[in-house]
Amino acid sequence: MNNERINTALRHATDTQNVTIGAGALVSVDDLFRQSFGDEAAVVVADENTFAVAGEEVQRHLEAGGRKLAEPYVFPGQPTLYAGYGNIETLIEALHVHDAIPIAVGSGTLNDIVKRASYECDRPYLCVATAASMDGYTAFGAAITKEGYKQTMTCPAPRAVLADVDILVNAPLRMTASGYADLLGKVTAGADWIIADALRVEKIDPQVWSLVQDPLRGWTAKPAELHTGDQEAMDQLIEGLVMSGLAMQAHQSSRPASGAEHQFSHLWEMEGLGQDDDPPLSHGFKVGVGSISIAALYERILERDLSEVDVEARREAWPAWEEVERAVRTAHPNPPLDEAFVEQTRAKYVDADRLAQRLELLREVWPKLHEKVKEQLMTAEELREMLGAAGCPTSPTEIGLTWEDFKATYSRAQMIRKRYTVLDLANETGVLEGCVEELFAPGGFWARDAAS
Ligand SMILES: [Zn+2]
Repeated sequence: MNNERINTALRHATDTQNVTIGAGALVSVDDLFRQSFGDEAAVVVADENTFAVAGEEVQRHLEAGGRKLAEPYVFPGQPTLYAGYGNIETLIEALHVHDAIPIAVGSGTLNDIVKRASYECDRPYLCVATAASMDGYTAFGAAITKEGYKQTMTCPAPRAVLADVDILVNAPLRMTASGYADLLGKVTAGADWIIADALRVEKIDPQVWSLVQDPLRGWTAKPAELHTGDQEAMDQLIEGLVMSGLAMQAHQSSRPASGAEHQFSHLWEMEGLGQDDDPPLSHGFKVGVGSISIAALYERILERDLSEVDVEARREAWPAWEEVERAVRTAHPNPPLDEAFVEQTRAKYVDADRLAQRLELLREVWPKLHEKVKEQLMTAEELREMLGAAGCPTSPTEIGLTWEDFKATYSRAQMIRKRYTVLDLANETGVLEGCVEELFAPGGFWARDAAS
């Protein structure tokens, strides 16, 4: 790991104080624990799989360090652990019989369960990552299903994180591939932030920006090597994922790590795509297909000269809020998502006058903005190749979507979140529909796949 980069990020992070990444890092788990919690007692929390992979060894190292330990809490290994609120309640009950600091040994779901349960028990925790599968290790909040609705529940990020590259390279390839896709999604996420900044919707924080975007190409340069257990490639991947989480802490928002590609992913996730598969369809695989989709949309938009947008025509065509609300409800008829999406769309709705001001600004800044966005992006084809090399699905049908549902995502995903992205730019300039049609028309990016 690049110590300087990690240390810079830690200085800006709000919750996480210590990060150790490296081959063989697990031997230092007791040192990391002491650095973070002094002489407190510890309790290992894992599932049967991750306990065998790393939990037992963590336990041994803590014992050897003379640390006071509570009995490990181990969830069943089969079926795949589910991020449901019931598992959090179970863990809270187990934690209440002692006051030991939890050590989460596992990947995304286990970490989310421990993150939220620790918070409800008013305790900090330490995370030992067993797969480079997503950027949530160092992020605040936990993705939990409660009352049938997947939501992000409040809770701080871990105080300390340890990732042993020797363990990560032996994780199932699909998990590594998922993490790679989550990281590569920062390419389009960055482009969206550039647009929001240029249109004065959401300013770029240059320090936070550089935590993720400066090293991004290096972190993602070796997708094929991840297949072969290459330690260097894995070290880069986990550093990128950990840094992305730290950047979200520094910014107190997921903006540095999430744009329209995540909106595609979130919509599919909230509608339950692949959730009954075992293992369930991963976050990263949805983000990967989302990233290709958004990069393809960007290509269509960058072909257009938005400095020529007809502001008066757009002002006249611009719908009143009531009309927009109806459109959101038509596109998303199912509760409780409908109300949530109306609220999110409302938060970013501007009236016709403000739209006109924004478009005037766009006309002015477009030549420069066009250049900046182009420099930030990769082509959809490049992303498809890199994701394919990492072992990710690259077509919507591979993750269980019909072409019809997939195509509809381009307009439906614009309505689910208040975050300003390229989907909003396309919607406000009136080019979204035309661009999407081009993507599916003969010669378009999706035409060949959709026809086969
Ligand atoms: Zn993500």
